[in-house]
Amino acid sequence: MKSLIIASQNQHKVREIRKMTNGMYEIKSLADIGFNEDIPEPYATLEENAMTKAQTIFDRFGLDCFGEDTGLEVQALDNAPGVLSARYAGPQKSAQDNMTKLLNELEGKNDRKARFRTVIALILDGKKYYFEGKVEGQILTERRGEDGFGYDPLFFYAPLQKTFAELSIEEKNNISHRGLAINQLVDFLTKI
Ligand code: IMP
Repeated sequence: MKSLIIASQNQHKVREIRKMTNGMYEIKSLADIGFNEDIPEPYATLEENAMTKAQTIFDRFGLDCFGEDTGLEVQALDNAPGVLSARYAGPQKSAQDNMTKLLNELEGKNDRKARFRTVIALILDGKKYYFEGKVEGQILTERRGEDGFGYDPLFFYAPLQKTFAELSIEEKNNISHRGLAINQLVDFLTKI
């Protein structure tokens, strides 16, 4: 079976992607190949950050691999926090602090439209490919729900009339930015 490296230290993502690739590829994590460094995400776009992760691993190991980057893009804030989503309120990367900052920035604003966007950058046989998943929602004025992570308690998804923090993992994977981007990747890998 062919191997594919996911350029992420996040074991949750690795497990999720293993499930979705159905044993077609042997998905290896960075830990599996003995890479323990943090790959920096210094760029202004999700595309550049995702490709940098993949390129770093490809340069070092010459293996097929993909990187991924996600951001929350809020319309009334000119698509902020975007690439800065994880550290919006500072380097402590606290989800609670980030949500508080977002609520403050949106105070008094009627336009609450937002979307999560995930970009996957794949290097396969030395060629580069991009995949994208997006989901549209609204930022509430207060948190709702206990599950999920990051900005989930503030992200209201109208078709289900729930925030992402009120969905089960399965429900969220079916419609989420990351779920959609992974589906596109898997679709491509099945056809190639
Ligand atoms: P990452 O690039 O996937 O690590 O995501 C960067 C940041 O975006 C995370 O630290 C979260 O703040 C936010 N984020 C990414 N995906 C989600 C999600 O599914 N729900 C809520 N927040 C998310």
